[in-house]
Amino acid sequence: MTASTRVIILKASLATALSIVASLGLALTVVPMLGGVVDGTAWLMCILCPLLIAWPASAWQFRQAQRLKDAHGEIARLHGALSAAHETLLERARRDGLTGLLNRESFLADLKQAMTPGGRGTLLFIDADHFKQVNDRFGHPVGDDALRRLAQAIAGAVGASGFSGRLGGEEFAVYLPRTVLTEAEAVAKQVLDAVRRLRIEAPGGEPVSLTVSIGAAGWAGGTTIEHLIAEADAQLYRAKMQGRNRAACALNMAAVA
Ligand code: GH3
Ligand code: MG
Ligand code: MG
Repeated sequence: MTASTRVIILKASLATALSIVASLGLALTVVPMLGGVVDGTAWLMCILCPLLIAWPASAWQFRQAQRLKDAHGEIARLHGALSAAHETLLERARRDGLTGLLNRESFLADLKQAMTPGGRGTLLFIDADHFKQVNDRFGHPVGDDALRRLAQAIAGAVGASGFSGRLGGEEFAVYLPRTVLTEAEAVAKQVLDAVRRLRIEAPGGEPVSLTVSIGAAGWAGGTTIEHLIAEADAQLYRAKMQGRNRAACALNMAAVA
């Protein structure tokens, strides 16, 4: 017998006992008032009727109440599971399928949100160097693996100082909130080093060498997201022109290699 069945039996028995007491109380007050006598048969009826009517009726009612309570509990549990699944789906929709970093839309949305008036920060555009050659030489699956490792290296180097996204293809971006260009330079260097340290092998054991170029642009008040992106893009182009495997920063910053 389950615990809830035991509780139902107990409650029904209690209700029946109360019903017997109430019946006897009524019989002992009303019957004499009407000139009658409460004899043995009356006592028996006062006990038997509640036993035969009140007990099954209240047991059934308590059982229904328990089922309703169980159903509410189940609905609450399902609601919780559904909310959790919804959260997971929303988070998954924000992610790039290959690398797990934020996808382009989510990265740009988060960047826009991070650019609050009076704030400051630095945007890094990161592009894999001569990546087409990796695909051409080792095949697309190796290229995909290299992009995954690249994303891990970028996210690892950035750590908690910012958030990273894949803008598309072999292009990534990092936003460093509350970071001025001079501080961002150190993060850009960490990214360059982390990518240089990557050891990627093609299935035949051949090493796949990978480097990135980085364009960095800082903002402080007044700058629009479009301007910041254009500046980071221009700096990335500068890093490529200067020979790749390096970072170029906006304003009068020197190139970091
Ligand atoms: P650069 O140094 O000038 O950036 O040269 P690049 O070869 O990296 O640039 P380009 O734009 O010529 O080529 C980018 C390549 O990235 C071409 C494309 O095959 C590859 N690519 C883009 N997306 C993916 C992807 O999801 N998986 C793989 N394996 N390759 C990709
Ligand atoms: Mg490239
Ligand atoms: Mg590119």
